Amino acid sequence: MSEENHTNFPPRYDPKPVEEKWYRFWEENGFFTANPESPKPKFSIVIPPPNVTGSLHMGHALDNTLPDILIRRKKMQGFETLWLPGTDHAGIGTQVKVEQMLAKEGKTRFDLGREEFLRRAWEWKEKYGNEIVKQLRRLGCCLDWSRFRFTLDEVCARAVREAFVRYYEKGLIYRGLRIVNWCPRCRTALSDLEVKYQEEKSQLWYIRYPYADGTGGVTVATTRPETMLGDTAVAVNPEDKRYQAVVGKMLRLPLTERLIPIVADEAVEMDFGTGAVKVTPAHDPVDFEIGERHGLARLKVIDDDGKMTALVPAKYQGMTREECRRAVVEDLKEQGLLEKIEDYEHAVGTCDRCGTAIEPLASEQWFVKMKPLAEPAIRVVEEGKVRFYPERWNKVYLDWMRNVKDWCISRQLWWGHRIPVWYCNCGKVIVAREDPVECPDCHSKSLRQDEDVLDTWFSSALWPFATMGWPEETIDYRTFFPTDFLTTDPDIIFRWEARMIFSSLEFTGRIPFVDVYIHSTVLDKTGARMSRSKGVGVDPLEIIEHYGTDACRFTIAYLESQSQSYRLWNERFELGRNFANKVWNACRLVAPHITGINSVFLDPNELTALDNWVVMRFNETLERVDKGIDSYTFSTVAQALYDFFWHDLCDWYLEFAKRRLKAQDNTVKAVLYHLFRGSLQMLHPIMPFITEELWHRLEMGGRSILESSWPKPLPAKSDTLWLVERMRDVIGGIRQVRAEMRVPAKSTVECIVNTGNEELAKFLKEQELLICELAKVSTVKFGSTRPRGSVVIVFSDCEIYVPLSGVVDVEKELERLRREVGELERLIAEIDRRLGNPDFLERAKNEVIEREQARREEFAARRERLKRILEVY
Ligand SMILES: [Zn+2]
Ligand SMILES: [Zn+2]
Repeated sequence: MSEENHTNFPPRYDPKPVEEKWYRFWEENGFFTANPESPKPKFSIVIPPPNVTGSLHMGHALDNTLPDILIRRKKMQGFETLWLPGTDHAGIGTQVKVEQMLAKEGKTRFDLGREEFLRRAWEWKEKYGNEIVKQLRRLGCCLDWSRFRFTLDEVCARAVREAFVRYYEKGLIYRGLRIVNWCPRCRTALSDLEVKYQEEKSQLWYIRYPYADGTGGVTVATTRPETMLGDTAVAVNPEDKRYQAVVGKMLRLPLTERLIPIVADEAVEMDFGTGAVKVTPAHDPVDFEIGERHGLARLKVIDDDGKMTALVPAKYQGMTREECRRAVVEDLKEQGLLEKIEDYEHAVGTCDRCGTAIEPLASEQWFVKMKPLAEPAIRVVEEGKVRFYPERWNKVYLDWMRNVKDWCISRQLWWGHRIPVWYCNCGKVIVAREDPVECPDCHSKSLRQDEDVLDTWFSSALWPFATMGWPEETIDYRTFFPTDFLTTDPDIIFRWEARMIFSSLEFTGRIPFVDVYIHSTVLDKTGARMSRSKGVGVDPLEIIEHYGTDACRFTIAYLESQSQSYRLWNERFELGRNFANKVWNACRLVAPHITGINSVFLDPNELTALDNWVVMRFNETLERVDKGIDSYTFSTVAQALYDFFWHDLCDWYLEFAKRRLKAQDNTVKAVLYHLFRGSLQMLHPIMPFITEELWHRLEMGGRSILESSWPKPLPAKSDTLWLVERMRDVIGGIRQVRAEMRVPAKSTVECIVNTGNEELAKFLKEQELLICELAKVSTVKFGSTRPRGSVVIVFSDCEIYVPLSGVVDVEKELERLRREVGELERLIAEIDRRLGNPDFLERAKNEVIEREQARREEFAARRERLKRILEVY
């Protein structure tokens, strides 16, 4: 195919202009806009709303590439699709950003006041909050931008208000004093999921508390000596024989003059420290409960800024927690009450956002009662109405939901949905959908709204239906809710998926989505988690810039194999780029033969055995692609397409077809037309841009490939499949022998087929010309005598002899191969020794071990290949 002139078809694929052109085209022509009145079947997805503070990272690339694959295929399958975009206001995240900006002006949010702070936060959002939106366009996502939502916009705000009031009216929201995770820097309560635990080398201090009557004392062990100033009891386990006699006795709390009792409580672990523990009900969740059970006072000795309060002796007041710890330890030492100090490693909770150590504080917060909400949310997953993929996540979800604790939903922030609760001086509490003007009881107009805002996840939990207009029964809500699919990374199953499920069941009576695909965690080259904040990992924008969006998307799909995690680094995207180039080059090659030969009929009776084979392979590929997408095994989809297009179609069939194309054979043109058409269509969901471009270059018809119908199997007869596969093996075998025995490229060899299978013999004879051309043999002979100096290739139904005497120095080449086998064996043994050494395994990084294993596999495969040539000689 050298005679064609492709002046209009650039030899290289340049992604950038193609991507810009087609995204604009799709968007401007309304390809992404859903029509709720369409009679077509429906398919809908809502985006996991990225934070307005966000910039595209690998997690987003996965969250959005995978749904886009589904949406594009569904469009081609004739569905009316909606993929709804939006962003999340990211309460704490945005507030921290704005506070950092203020800090540069030397101000805090309290200098500005709530109203001015919010004005600045909105300003910040308008200016920086749209980056992520632009970046999603570059990824090629079919998002319906006309339906864009923001979790703080009016539609979402109304849903939040409605949800809060309904929960409250049902008694599912309550205000209560609880120990919360308090971040003294962010000055807000955090949910358990927003606390990160870090192992810390610390100490265990043993402090002697004397009895009030001066007869001795009890020793307690603690990791936080500064909190002793807030102790209101010492507790022991009622089963603990060591202390049974002293339960009820009073102790004199050192450094203060307070008297505190010894109480017996089952929550105390007998084998921790001395078995006696200090009880600080205001600063520890377990102590809080012990305090409730024994009616102990709660002394708040640490304030919201993490400083010591007026309830401690004057000398410690105003100290930070750390300063106070040093002072208390010093003073106890001086008084001879510090018995000993042990090294101790334990997990310290820190703020997910700013890293400050969490202070457990007793404070008034709003909670959602979880037990009644959890029950139906467990049922829908148990009954398979909501399905997690891969399946193992069903159990993870259920375990969490079965043990769920009440959800603390108030945050002491300003950026967010303010809690719709008002207080009147007469004591009336008003919870209302509309801002109240006056108190319904005393008609006072001076009402105070609750200062707190809701946890960001409270609004995210309503996302799938709030975005569709709920509580209004809008046409979008009626048409596109519940949604069909959702994908996220595993980190937010509890924060998000779980909360959407129970919220949706509570408010709409329906599940929010049917299938949830939890994608793999992407690790960096060394196997560490990618971290945006640390600046390690792959930047998808850089990848798009360097390799193109389709290469990025193809590689993501290729690696997404339902495993827990995989490693990723920039060069891995070469796979996608090389494949895109292969697709481009192949289309360029066939363009002169198939361009514009629209809707040619493929008559199965006209197909040769070779045509039949490739059509069958196409049909198998289509089946694998369909099954793969339907079961969310994206890697099998990408691999099937890669193997078919690169190997079956380009490596083999295009070679088979050359001669007939030269002869202007119409059947081969028709076959190629259908194969390329179908391949571009199957590739489109993963590689939207290049396929759209090629679709137009090959004049496949219509406005867009996105409007064409998803391919169907092509007509074929299956009886000759194995013959072609065998011929391919024979050609491949001869090529390998030529390469291993170093037959000069220009030399031809003979081949002798020894087979008792007449059908095969007949077929290989028919294809002699092709075999001669592709395997560079002069003639295909038949016979059962193996000539001297020939290499033998063995198959189940035939043997192929390749005589090499006179072509190469056979003995010399074999000797070389034997030496190579010896060398390979030496290398394999060396690796085995290393991998068998426990010392090495312990010290080596995973990366190194994996590389060694891969090398071993490669060597072993080569050894087997060479041995086959040597052994059968
Ligand atoms: Zn913080
Ligand atoms: Zn009132």
